[in-house]
Amino acid sequence: MSDDCLFCKIIRREIPAEIVAESEHALAFRDIMPQAPTHILVIPKAHEPNAVALAEADPEAMGELFRLVGKVVAEEGLKNGYRAVFNTGPDALQTVFHAHVHLLGGRVFDWPPG
Ligand code: AMP
Ligand code: ZN
Repeated sequence: MSDDCLFCKIIRREIPAEIVAESEHALAFRDIMPQAPTHILVIPKAHEPNAVALAEADPEAMGELFRLVGKVVAEEGLKNGYRAVFNTGPDALQTVFHAHVHLLGGRVFDWPPG
């Protein structure tokens, strides 16, 4: 846990979020600025700066995070597909340095991404 990390504060329920699913080591909540009809952030409860750091520190937690993604996909009814995005580092416009996957669905996406 990091004292001044936004997502650690959401995990500790110090700031509000619309939580949609939770497991022992992961949490899913709606993005405050949704970019699609479904836009949910799925995060590990451990503070790691990005997905690779999480996979290296705790591979089982990374597996659990994606199992929670699967649960949310089913609950949100994303039968036509979805996009799972890890913005990592400044070139990818990462703004919160606590690992998180954007789960986006409910519309058709462009490729290549912007
Ligand atoms: P990234 O740019 O990949 O680091 O993504 C950070 C995401 O966190 C952005 O999509 C923001 O809209 C989202 N965000 C920032 N503050 C909050 C908040 N308080 N609750 C939910 N989502 C947030
Ligand atoms: Zn954190």
